[in-house]
Amino acid sequence: MPSTADLPPDPRRADWRWQLRHRLTARDLGRDELPAWPCLVTPYYASLADLSDPDDPIARQFLPDPSELLPDGFGPDPFGEDGPAAIAPGIKQRFPDRILAQVNLTCAANCRHCTRRGLLGRAHAASLPDLLAALKARPKVREVLLSGGDPLLLPDDALLAWVDALADLPQLDAIRLCTRTPVTLPMRWTLPLVRRLARSKCLWVQTQFNHPRELTSQSIAACARLVDHGIPVSNQSVLLKGINDDPAVMAELCAKLQRARVRPYYIFLCDPIAGIGHFRTDPAAAPALRESLLSNLGGLACPRLVADLPAAPHKQDVLGR
Ligand code: SF4
Repeated sequence: MPSTADLPPDPRRADWRWQLRHRLTARDLGRDELPAWPCLVTPYYASLADLSDPDDPIARQFLPDPSELLPDGFGPDPFGEDGPAAIAPGIKQRFPDRILAQVNLTCAANCRHCTRRGLLGRAHAASLPDLLAALKARPKVREVLLSGGDPLLLPDDALLAWVDALADLPQLDAIRLCTRTPVTLPMRWTLPLVRRLARSKCLWVQTQFNHPRELTSQSIAACARLVDHGIPVSNQSVLLKGINDDPAVMAELCAKLQRARVRPYYIFLCDPIAGIGHFRTDPAAAPALRESLLSNLGGLACPRLVADLPAAPHKQDVLGR
């Protein structure tokens, strides 16, 4: 099947709403759907992939893989997001100074390695009154993560209602927008939206570039628009077997992120979640990756290599040998 990059240019593809309306399914891509986690991807992100290559590092992030069905010994919710961490529908607290609100339950592309892939189908979106009440009852919370799904799939006014309400609270030092749209839907970052978001002085954008090929002229322009308007952008990659677990690939990614003024912040070891075990790398190889990055990148370009462990009080650094 030809890559969607071979399709003739269509100016409508520059509109984020068009991209969402025309998201591709497994059937559109000539693949079988798998139960539990549907394949869904924007034409833009699919166009970055070589669909004829079974090892393509972009395609593997959105195409269903029968390995997902193999038993891997993991459950769908090791972090208790549906259990102890849930304080109201769609509102979670795992750490004392932060609260996460799932303000939307869909994404521009369904990542095969998604940590919440087993939860989103039965999740409830957060409500703003519930979030404000949770913050009032927890005065030590100083950061809110607006997450999902992806909050950038909300219409502008709905997204700004969340941001504006939170930006007014003296209790908060930071609002994090957790979104993969700089990678999968960069045209979402229109100038009017960025200008309105930039009125909030405590907003940070946190995204997830996993491979250097994801840094296209469009994604770089989206990040530049944010940074130029005073909104810091940081990146949290996920270490994915066969996709970016090569030190040279990861170093290239970090260097390109720095050039785009996106701070490479974390590399997460892939979480122990049911259905994504085939993406997990050998933990014994992680220290060598860390050493290689430290040796080849300056501090500003070098992310922390960490593991998010169930019940741990904070992210755990994966230390050198
Ligand atoms: S964008 Fe985030 S929440 Fe959405 S599928 Fe990807 S990893 Fe999961």
